[in-house]
Amino acid sequence: MATNLVKISSETDIKARLEAERARLRKIAGLDQPDHFHRPVERAFTAEQRAQTTILFGGFTWKHEDLIRAVFQGTGYRCEKLPVPDVPAFQTGKEFGNNGQCNPTYFTVGNLVQYLQFLEKEGIPRQQILDNYVFFTAGSCGPCRFGMYEAEYRFALKNAGFDGFRVLLFKDSDGIKAESGEPGLKFSIDFGFGMLNAMHMGDVMNDLIYQIRPFEAKKGETDRIFRETVDGLCADLKNRKAFEIEQVAPEWAKPKFKSNKILRNTFNVFGKWHEHMWGKDYLGALKNARAKMDSIEVDRTKVKPVVKITGEFWAQLTEGDGNFHMFEFLEREGAQVLVEPIATWVAYLLYQAKAHAIAKWPVNKPHKDPKWYEAKKQFANYIGLHKKLWGIGFGQKAWNFFYHRTAEQLGGITHHLVPQQELADLAHPFYNQYARGGEGHLEVGKNVYYTIHKMCHMVLALKPFGCMPSSQSDGVQSAVINKFKDMIFLPIETSGEGEVNAHSRVQMALGEAKVKAKAEFEQCLKQTGKTLAEIHAYMDEHPELKKPFYHVPHRPGIAGTAAQFVLHVSERIDKDTRFWKRSRVAGAVPQPASGD
Ligand code: SF4
Repeated sequence: MATNLVKISSETDIKARLEAERARLRKIAGLDQPDHFHRPVERAFTAEQRAQTTILFGGFTWKHEDLIRAVFQGTGYRCEKLPVPDVPAFQTGKEFGNNGQCNPTYFTVGNLVQYLQFLEKEGIPRQQILDNYVFFTAGSCGPCRFGMYEAEYRFALKNAGFDGFRVLLFKDSDGIKAESGEPGLKFSIDFGFGMLNAMHMGDVMNDLIYQIRPFEAKKGETDRIFRETVDGLCADLKNRKAFEIEQVAPEWAKPKFKSNKILRNTFNVFGKWHEHMWGKDYLGALKNARAKMDSIEVDRTKVKPVVKITGEFWAQLTEGDGNFHMFEFLEREGAQVLVEPIATWVAYLLYQAKAHAIAKWPVNKPHKDPKWYEAKKQFANYIGLHKKLWGIGFGQKAWNFFYHRTAEQLGGITHHLVPQQELADLAHPFYNQYARGGEGHLEVGKNVYYTIHKMCHMVLALKPFGCMPSSQSDGVQSAVINKFKDMIFLPIETSGEGEVNAHSRVQMALGEAKVKAKAEFEQCLKQTGKTLAEIHAYMDEHPELKKPFYHVPHRPGIAGTAAQFVLHVSERIDKDTRFWKRSRVAGAVPQPASGD
């Protein structure tokens, strides 16, 4: 039988035929000239465009956003905050974005598109929107989907017909730049310190509003006063006069500063730093804010379960549809919400930078295994690592110092930043602290920390649908719950839909937390040997106890505000009683009609 088979004579022949076939198939599939992806070159946001360009941003609480906008405006930019993302924004994000994104992507991307569509409806031509608006957001290289946000914004904007709309990424090195050209947004000293103040004030105000509102005596007073207070702080950030050495120096020194740039810049850095942190205007604004907030009347004897919020960065911060209006819902249901400051996240990043530098040093050090007598190499290895650690350590100390200083100036009752080392140590048996992405080990660490220190009655983790790191930490939370039996922990997946279902699950867990809070309160009241009526009578005679910034010392092991409060008031009553008894024995003063 005749055959068409060609004889293959050698190994080389096989290789040649394989190559030929591969080339044929690649050609058919269109892979012979691959079209690699290149990040689009974006139009620059130049210094000349500043006057007519509006910077858009969003994604925080209204307190943070108002304060951040004030800093932008105070440093010469036009700036607007985006509305709080809602369900229509989520749907818009789904319509114009890629499939399979995590929830915050849809909400935030859709929110931007929706806002641009709104501008267009208001009569601003599309080209004018492209030319006169830019969006400012944080960027990352991952490892979770956060690394894809920038690309997602561009993709959705293109699909929605806003191709070419500029997205500015925050870069911590040399300012905030568009792809090329002169940066329109400069990371100046005034801008940097202003932002530091705004972030810390936003965090502190956010913590305070959730500490005060549940106990307000007159409904709606906290919201009204906080609105006025934040406006006052914004006015300070916006109108604060920038320090310029050439203006404040004595006449004889002015020409020196004018002619010597290095001298001028050095004095300006320290002068501006002082002005932003210790300046009369700044401290005065904080003092006014404190006085305003302290005028709210509170009744801390209302028994409320404390619910600690953890979860993914955005879901635990937003105050809208993105987390089913969870904070509002919890307060309506009688809870006290313990929110998370953004400052914890920055502290976490600094901690991670330090931990990773130490962990990677055996690989990164300049001299591998130097002999004991090679002192120069040993020293180079030592100093190389410690230079890094000292730098980060200084950053950590400065960050904590300025945060707690703002908290102190604004009433002194804000929760302190949780020690990062402790969080990592508590989480590490369940969640490796080197596993990055999202909140990393923080969700587990906070859950354990707030439970063992009895700082809350329940932990509620808000995690967006499709969030990779949150799904991982959810996986290990079941092991955590098994170990800490009295823990009430509830993870809620926040998708754009299913609000009723989520609320009903929270209600169930909250029921348990309420029982826990009530039992704790009754136990503490019993311990005092007094009735609630006696506590109230004493409060009426001592109005300082109805002020939000009256300091109630924290007793370890008690989570509830009301429980802490009755123990403290009881101590005061006992102290007064002892005083009056001693005075009577000495024959000095008659005891007052009531109040012991
Ligand atoms: S942490 Fe989760 S929700 Fe947030 S960007 Fe990453 S994957 Fe998305």
